[in-house]
Amino acid sequence: MSQHQLLIALDSVGIDPLGHDRPESVYGASRFLFPRGRSGSIVPVDGALVPGILVETDVAGEAEQGAIECAITYTSIFSGQSAIREHGLMRGLGLKDRLLEQMVSRDNLFRHFPRCCLANAIFPAHVEFLGNSYAQDLVPHFSREAIEGRLTFDSQPTSFKGHAKNGFAELFTLAEINQNIFVYAARQAGVPLLTWADVRRGGALTSSMTHELESRFNVQFFDQQPLPPRTPEEAAAILASLASNHDFTFYKYQIPDLVSHTHQIELARDVFAIIERFAEAVLRQIDPVTTTVIITSDHGHLEQLGTSRGHPKSHVPTWYFGPRADEIAPLLTRPEGIFEMLVAR
Ligand SMILES: [Zn+2]
Repeated sequence: MSQHQLLIALDSVGIDPLGHDRPESVYGASRFLFPRGRSGSIVPVDGALVPGILVETDVAGEAEQGAIECAITYTSIFSGQSAIREHGLMRGLGLKDRLLEQMVSRDNLFRHFPRCCLANAIFPAHVEFLGNSYAQDLVPHFSREAIEGRLTFDSQPTSFKGHAKNGFAELFTLAEINQNIFVYAARQAGVPLLTWADVRRGGALTSSMTHELESRFNVQFFDQQPLPPRTPEEAAAILASLASNHDFTFYKYQIPDLVSHTHQIELARDVFAIIERFAEAVLRQIDPVTTTVIITSDHGHLEQLGTSRGHPKSHVPTWYFGPRADEIAPLLTRPEGIFEMLVAR
């Protein structure tokens, strides 16, 4: 029985339907997360510091109408109920969806643990034109008119309309953390929301992990000082420390989603290399006797970024590093099974 559970979600990292074990795959250079010469719905990962398993998780089910969006999978993980079955796929991005909120109110993963940590800091501004968020009562509001042109991205004024958008996708990548259903779940369960002040003192992460994306904006515009750069290893040490001080810790890494929409395969390979450095460093920092680590994703895209415009309905990888892997593997084939596995610890 593990005392500490650490769940990491990678946004937009799917199973490669043509197989990861080929040079053309974005995972072709994987060092251990996608074991060489092995594929299948459940395979051992023994090249890691801690032995684990890789399970294919079906996040889209049989549903055909609509799109697989983040909120669907996170609702299943955080409510323990299938959002595909109750809600179906999405027609839009599904931000602040009442039915998904009801599911999380019925049963909420965070309520099953005395000490929980949502390791992502919220974004320190409410960007009104990106839609409602679960933290908009906590941070200053900015209209599009106020931001456009005065916030800079790569030292150029931001622009959010027409073909010459500058900084729009990047600002969304940073600000969308506030719109996630698990922020709603955290607030419902009384889990404290961490801030950029916590990030600066090494007590939280942002969803960019390294702060490289934040550093391309003049964040002084939001009345914030720049965040210190972090290597994946430094970020992993912070996360491992949070995990050791809580019963359940959750962290979401958002950059693969941004990369998926660029359709640049080299960027995808680079971001996957960062994921492996981060995962290896997390496994190096935790005590495998007391801490279980699960790494999963909400939907695919990175693996098919050359060919898919939206999120493909591919399976996603779930890695499990912990005891009784054989027994637990079947649960991990569904996102709501991750909830069951975590609460049955
Ligand atoms: Zn997503």
